Amino acid sequence: MAEARAARPRRAFDLLRTPALGPFLHWRHARSALQLPMLMVAILVLYDGLFGPQLAPRNLAGVAPWVQGRGVAVLALLLAGNLTCMACPFALSRNAGKKLLGGRRNWPKRLQGKWLVAGLLLVFFWFYELFDPWALPWLTAVLAAGYFAGAFIVNGAFSGMSFCKYLCPLGHFNFVNSLASPVEVRIHHPEVCTVCATKDCLRGRGGQRGCELWLFQQRKVGNMDCTFCLDCARACPNDNVGLLSRLPGSELWDERPRAGIGRFSDRVDLAALALVLVFGAFLNAFGMVGPFYPFAEGLARLLGTNSEGMVLTVIFGVGMLLMPVAVVGTAAWVSRALARSRQPILSVAIHHSLALVPLGFGMWLAHYSFHFLTGALTLIPVAQSFLVDIGMPFLGQPNWSFGPLVPGGWLVPIELVLLELGWLATLLASYRATTLWQIGTRGSKAAFLPWGLVATTLFLWGVWLMLQPMEMRGILG
Ligand code: SF4
Ligand code: SF4
Repeated sequence: MAEARAARPRRAFDLLRTPALGPFLHWRHARSALQLPMLMVAILVLYDGLFGPQLAPRNLAGVAPWVQGRGVAVLALLLAGNLTCMACPFALSRNAGKKLLGGRRNWPKRLQGKWLVAGLLLVFFWFYELFDPWALPWLTAVLAAGYFAGAFIVNGAFSGMSFCKYLCPLGHFNFVNSLASPVEVRIHHPEVCTVCATKDCLRGRGGQRGCELWLFQQRKVGNMDCTFCLDCARACPNDNVGLLSRLPGSELWDERPRAGIGRFSDRVDLAALALVLVFGAFLNAFGMVGPFYPFAEGLARLLGTNSEGMVLTVIFGVGMLLMPVAVVGTAAWVSRALARSRQPILSVAIHHSLALVPLGFGMWLAHYSFHFLTGALTLIPVAQSFLVDIGMPFLGQPNWSFGPLVPGGWLVPIELVLLELGWLATLLASYRATTLWQIGTRGSKAAFLPWGLVATTLFLWGVWLMLQPMEMRGILG
């Protein structure tokens, strides 16, 4: 019954059918037109990171990716969708890579889940805390260079966009958080696909690529694994693919099997990825506030070590592995007991791990929008300074008074609203999730209680974090 409800055609607004934007996005070179400016920015970041001043707030590599880049990425996810992957400069080298490296090998079967990328994200969060790449422009440049090399080699040597599908931590941050976005790439009319003989959205047509992440439109549901490249829309001969509006997060209670993914409820690796990003959101914000430092010092004394790496390994091991497993496992057990259900605990836990995504996204939004709103305009003097350094001062001398976008008093209310939106969306998704795994029974509303408690506890932790003094990254003085 839930499937029938989910499969019913919905009225939706299609961005691909709007006057100027629609024809532009249908244009064969639209993605490259978005990627090229981003490539220019990436080259400038690399150059300034390696050869510019190593004071982070005065270097493009110290501000553009960490202050503006992250802020724009999460705001785009909130308002539109996965625009970061759409304009990703790392994917631009795909054709050259495939020419040079063949592009015919299949990505190893045993690495095709999300375990590897969940592990990479966990390591990245630990690395970020230990080495502070935001404070070291040269390290940011090295990371960006490594990213270009990784995308070039993997997308070049393996079929499709294997780097994006299986390895890219940034892309998976976007894939998971775009589950809460208000837009998705989706077909208009299922019956048109049913009689379609060519399936060009997947195979490609006349030099136009089809979906290289193996998402067949007829069975595609939601945003997971979708880079918003729109190759499918350009390839479809029936103009049946749109960039369509939807209720944000509604795919979290859609149980249909998904092209290239299967059912969410069968994917323990996806649930693990979601939990890494949800608990990572809170832990990453915790690392930015004043009370973190006495906490870490106390833990170091307890462990009898001076090694920051050791202390962070314990914090991240507990915070991103033990705590999610214990919290979600216990809640699943209690929820199942309250419902007097025989559903496997793992299945209950998977449904509800994904339902936590909007709350995690709310935390990322609150955190990154803080840095963005306090430091977005620093890009102006940093760009002026860069031009002065390379002997082209046509924007004048840097004016270091640029910085905040909004008055300081607005920050906490904005952050709290963003976090609250995530909390409310997770409460709704958790409630709907309890109806999914109780299908076929009378169902028990009490099954929702432990999940409401988990979401509310995390939300209150987030509120506490928002009220602590935060580091002012990318801002002089
Ligand atoms: S999206 Fe287009 S190409 Fe793909 S199956 Fe449907 S009608 Fe055919
Ligand atoms: S479904 Fe595939 S081709 Fe279409 S936008 Fe998403 S990733 Fe691109």
